[in-house]
Amino acid sequence: MILKLNKQQIRTALEEAYDHYKDNTEGKNADYIPFLAGVPSRLFGIAACLPDGELIAVGDTDYAFGIESVSKVPTALLAMHQYGAETVLRQIGADATGLPFNSIMAILLENDHPSTPLVNAGAIAACSMIRPTGASDAKWKAITEFIEALTGSRIAVIDELYRSESETNFNNRAIAWLLRNYGRIYDDPELSLDLYTRQCSLGVTARQLAVMAATIASGGVNPITHLKVFDAALTPKITALMATVGFYEHTGDWLYATGLPAKSGVGGGILAVVPGVMGLAAFAPPLDEAGNSVKAQKALAQIADRLSLGLFNTTHGIVTEAERSLVEA
Ligand code: GLN
Repeated sequence: MILKLNKQQIRTALEEAYDHYKDNTEGKNADYIPFLAGVPSRLFGIAACLPDGELIAVGDTDYAFGIESVSKVPTALLAMHQYGAETVLRQIGADATGLPFNSIMAILLENDHPSTPLVNAGAIAACSMIRPTGASDAKWKAITEFIEALTGSRIAVIDELYRSESETNFNNRAIAWLLRNYGRIYDDPELSLDLYTRQCSLGVTARQLAVMAATIASGGVNPITHLKVFDAALTPKITALMATVGFYEHTGDWLYATGLPAKSGVGGGILAVVPGVMGLAAFAPPLDEAGNSVKAQKALAQIADRLSLGLFNTTHGIVTEAERSLVEA
C-alpha cells in the first residue's frame, strides 16, 4: 500500500483518538482469569511505530499488561519461520471458526480439518510444533527470544498472572486433550498447554506491541534494531490470519470498520499492522462480549479512518517511484 503521511498527522490522529475515548467506560475487564479482573480499568494507551523506528505514544504506553491472545501472532509466525507457511497451513490451518476463541464446539465441528493458529486450539497446536520437540525449556526459549526479537526489547512473564491462568485453565486443558484425540497436536499436550499459558502471561507494553506490529509491517525487519527476524514472505501470511480471525466472532465487524489486520487479547491489548506503512497498538482492559478491548478497538478504528489506513481503500492510487517514500519526515 502506498500512503503519504507525515508524522505530525499520525501524532494528531493518536492524540485525538486518545482524548475522544479516554473517559469511555464501556466494557468490563476479563474476570475468568482472576488476575485480569484486578488490572486498573482506566489504563489506556496508544502507540505507533514507524518504519524508521520512531515511536509515537500517547497515554499509558509503558504499563506492562498480559499479552494474552496477542501472543498467538508471534508463535504462529515462529512456527511458519521454523516449518514454512505451507506446513503450518496443513497442520493447523487458516480458516476462521466464527466461534469464540476458546470454543470446544469448533474443534468438534472441524475435527476433520484444522482451523487457525489465532484461536486457542490452533495456538496450543502452534506451541506444540515449536522446535525442539519434547524440550519445554528450549521451546520456551525459542518463543521468548522470537518475541524479544520482534519487539527489540526484553519481556518477562507476570508470575501472578501465570499462576492465575494455570490454576483456572481447565477449558484449555480440555482443548489440548481433544486435539490429541484428533491427532492435531504435535508434542505432549500438557507441555504444549503450559507453553501456551506461559506465553499468554507475558507482560508487554503498548510500545512493545507497536514495535512488534511494525516489524511485521516491515516484512520481518525490526525498525529499531534493524535485525531481520523472519522472511518477508511471511508478512502477508500472518496478516491474512489476523484479518480472518483476529477478533474471533467479531472479526467481520472489525474488518468492515477498519480494513486492518489486527489481533486482540483479553489483557486489553490490540496489535494492528498496516503493511509497508506502520505498526499500531492500543491497550485498555475493559472488553466487549467477544473478549476484545472496547477502547482500543474504538481508538484504532478512529485512527484508521482519519489516516485512511484501511487496506481495501482505493484512495491511494498509483504513484510514481519518486513518491514511494511511505512516511515522510
Ligand atoms: N489466555 C487466554 C485464554 O486462553 C487468552 C484468551 C484471549 O486473549 N482471547 O483463554
